[in-house]
Amino acid sequence: MKKTALVTGILGQDGPYLAKLLLEKDYKVYGLIRRYSNPTFENPEYLGVHDQIEYVDGDLTDESSLINVVKTTRPDEVYNLAAQSFVGASWQQAKLTTEVNALGVLSLLNAIKFFSPTSKFYQASTSEMFGLSNDDGYQDEDTPFHPRSPYGISKVYAYWMTVNFRESYNMFTCNGILFNHESPLRGIQFVTRKITDGVAKIKLGLADDIHLGDLDPKRDWGFAGDYVEAMYLMLQKEEPGDYVIATGQTHSVQDFVEAAFTAVGISDWKKHVKLDPRFQRPAEVPHLRGRVEKSQARLGWKPKVTFEELVKMMVKADIERLEKKEH
Ligand code: NAP
Repeated sequence: MKKTALVTGILGQDGPYLAKLLLEKDYKVYGLIRRYSNPTFENPEYLGVHDQIEYVDGDLTDESSLINVVKTTRPDEVYNLAAQSFVGASWQQAKLTTEVNALGVLSLLNAIKFFSPTSKFYQASTSEMFGLSNDDGYQDEDTPFHPRSPYGISKVYAYWMTVNFRESYNMFTCNGILFNHESPLRGIQFVTRKITDGVAKIKLGLADDIHLGDLDPKRDWGFAGDYVEAMYLMLQKEEPGDYVIATGQTHSVQDFVEAAFTAVGISDWKKHVKLDPRFQRPAEVPHLRGRVEKSQARLGWKPKVTFEELVKMMVKADIERLEKKEH
């Protein structure tokens, strides 16, 4: 019999990459979508998986919809990728961020506990939970959390609730503590995509500048297509656990900008970048870098795509998108 998976956040960045991986492994994939006045299936279409996903209606803020979905699908595996995932917006929408990212996870865990207790559960946790905790410059599974945004705080709640359902009810629940990962499907408001889209527009003569808040923050950036493999591997283990997923290398926003301009042959990037305080955050996370010994040893997982390859891939995809629009 086919294995089944329920993926929330199916229309975001990671959802379609994970769906592609699971479909290749012959899973039946249910994708949770919320009500839209204007639905867009652009991301699953981009990866060619839209027609193979069975969409089910539900919202993380509506517990009864989650109960209904879990009860009717009774999946082998649940991947909870849905979130208000934009750190910057989480100060303006702190309550909504908490309702979706924290209480929504509690509702989903409860729905599984009562109606499909053998489903394995993956929670999309994040390096933003570490925030300022970077004593030796690296973060791993033992590093204490010090989140710096309502987003990070909401994810810490979900992290511990995921651990607590494992310890209290013996459920198979895992946290993937993923460091930043990007792809051509990254939402346009995120700084990496803003840069690659901006560079593509400058290259094609459609814009002159990119406006950014801060060039100094350092992040450990990997490729989303690699990271979804780690999610899958966690749920295939005999025992549930929590894993840091990262590349172990760190780059500044400025490094990302330089790499993106280099990818299109523009060396004088400073001419095109304007610093704009409107895009600065009330509290920034200065430095993130993951130590991945546990996931490499226990999951056998390693990132494949390098930083330079990732930036090139994103710039190329944005140029192709814009050229398609122009014609
Ligand atoms: P994303 O592109 O922002 O996708 C998030 C998805 O969640 C969207 O499809 C969105 O649906 C859905 N969603 C939002 N609110 C919802 C609600 N109330 N009910 C149901 N669905 C809802 O995020 P991503 O980059 O794929 O990331 C996936 C997960 O990993 C997120 O939980 C994120 O916080 C976490 N994470 C991401 C990174 C990263 O670097 N990408 C790193 C660590 C952790 P709509 O399409 O309807 O808006």
